Amino acid sequence: MRLGIFGGTFDPVHLGHLLLAEVCLEQCRLDQVWFVPAALPPHKQQRTLTPGSQRVEMLQLAISGQRSLDVSTLELDRGGISYTWETLSALRDAHPDTDLFFLMGADSLADLPRWREPQRICELALPVAVRRVGSAELDFNLLDSIASPQRIAEMRQFQVEMPLIELSSTDLRERFSTGRSVRFRTPRAVEKYVETHHLYSTSDDVARSTP
Ligand code: ATP
Repeated sequence: MRLGIFGGTFDPVHLGHLLLAEVCLEQCRLDQVWFVPAALPPHKQQRTLTPGSQRVEMLQLAISGQRSLDVSTLELDRGGISYTWETLSALRDAHPDTDLFFLMGADSLADLPRWREPQRICELALPVAVRRVGSAELDFNLLDSIASPQRIAEMRQFQVEMPLIELSSTDLRERFSTGRSVRFRTPRAVEKYVETHHLYSTSDDVARSTP
């Protein structure tokens, strides 16, 4: 079993996230990709997030019917700040015979050395970086201090290319709050969910509660 783990806030999920999962499934020959929404991402604590249960529901709507995609509530169930190394350790313990891949945008790869326990992250799962609009070229030399030359060589083999999609959850939230179209930027079911639950109705995101 080859399992891709895709962490993020997914507030809300958009087509950039979904395409990233799909190209990783295909190009890394994964059996499954699990979206793992963070409870409290260490780098995004200044903004109040949409409750975790609602971010999960939007993800479930977005991947409905896709057997190779799933949502894991591991980080939401654990609560507190969501550290990736803890998540990957738990998954390694629960699935000892599974090859883990940790999927991320290229911007996240550049930050990886500053994450908590980056060496352990690279040992527990193979980081797979996908290039994204506005992010720098992939520079694996940045990882010299946290991964062995052999591990870095493996990462180079699993560079994933996807059509660059200039979409972000920030952009979607702004579009929802100002009544602009989100058509073809997120699945229709997610769009309807946001409307029904009156999410992202304020531009400053302040009115919403924590996960
Ligand atoms: P926000 O705008 O709220 O910061 P985001 O759109 O960056 O959110 P996250 O949930 O924080 O989405 O991202 C999770 C992961 O998805 C990150 O690794 C990020 O680099 C990647 N990602 C997000 N949007 C895209 C995109 N359009 N193309 C490729 N990767 C993306």
